[in-house]
Amino acid sequence: MVILEELKKVASHPAADELYELVRRRLPRVSLGTVYRNLELLCESGMVRKLEYGGSQRRYDGDATHHYHLRCVSCGRVEDAPIKPVSEIEESLRKMSDYEIIGHHVEFVGICPECKRKAPRTATQTKRALRKEKKHGTERITN
Ligand SMILES: [Zn+2]
Ligand SMILES: [Zn+2]
Repeated sequence: MVILEELKKVASHPAADELYELVRRRLPRVSLGTVYRNLELLCESGMVRKLEYGGSQRRYDGDATHHYHLRCVSCGRVEDAPIKPVSEIEESLRKMSDYEIIGHHVEFVGICPECKRKAPRTATQTKRALRKEKKHGTERITN
């Protein structure tokens, strides 16, 4: 209950260890293992969403409704994208594919306002950072 409450309080889509720090303020004796275990249960029950695309760290979202995310490739922060999910693309794909489409996830990547202010990058630098990240992602999967 405390895990879910703390997760719903923040908009930062924390990783398990970040959430553990928040939960520990209220339950000083809680272990990281307990937080992990309960997060898994909350995900299975559909009350919490696990975000596993793109970023290097698995993050959790207390808002289980369908929405898109914005991720900063520079500092790694994840926010909700302020646009409505496009359900029509699932319909289109259903017509073109033999798959039974059950949903879709979208993650926009970019540079957050804070990072932009700190170190303005050129478009080329941003693309380079993204390429590097993609390469890294593939390595992780093949290992
Ligand atoms: Zn940033
Ligand atoms: Zn979210």
